Amino acid sequence: MTPRERAVALLDAAHTRRDIRRLAPALDDEPALRRAVWAEGLRRGAELPDEAVGWPARRLLRVARGRSGAARARSNPIAIDEGFRCGACGRQVPPHGRTARNHCPWCLCSLHVDVVPGDRASTCGALMDPVALELVGGAPVLHHRCRGCGARVRVRVLTDGAVPDDWDTVIRLSAEPGG
Ligand SMILES: [Zn+2]
Ligand SMILES: [Zn+2]
Repeated sequence: MTPRERAVALLDAAHTRRDIRRLAPALDDEPALRRAVWAEGLRRGAELPDEAVGWPARRLLRVARGRSGAARARSNPIAIDEGFRCGACGRQVPPHGRTARNHCPWCLCSLHVDVVPGDRASTCGALMDPVALELVGGAPVLHHRCRGCGARVRVRVLTDGAVPDDWDTVIRLSAEPGG
């Protein structure tokens, strides 16, 4: 098994605190597996700063599987689609119309206000910069990194709605090394 496959298996098996206690020793002296758990946690939407790779194994596991657990618990998250003034470029952003608009369509910056996309449940509130672009099943996905707490969050590029994301800005991102 590759480290990534092992990380997926670990996170899929880590349901309870007891599971985490039992599974955590697998991360001891396994930096590649730690990195894989960290990356897989991010992929699943967990709030993991860069230094989380060095966290105690139980904490890393708990947080890495945490948000998917929270997302499951919140079976019907309320996605709030609202307009806002962009804290980075200052422009007034209209609501999307179909789904929650959580980043500026022009500069692609966002605020760290969501735990589950659209729920406005995070208390951080700092600006988030777009740092990379990824294709997921052919669909473009932005990676945001929080200036305040370092969390990384992935959000879909919005190609429809009142003001679609600026495609030139999206494409420029894809050429950058990705923070
Ligand atoms: Zn903006
Ligand atoms: Zn933050």
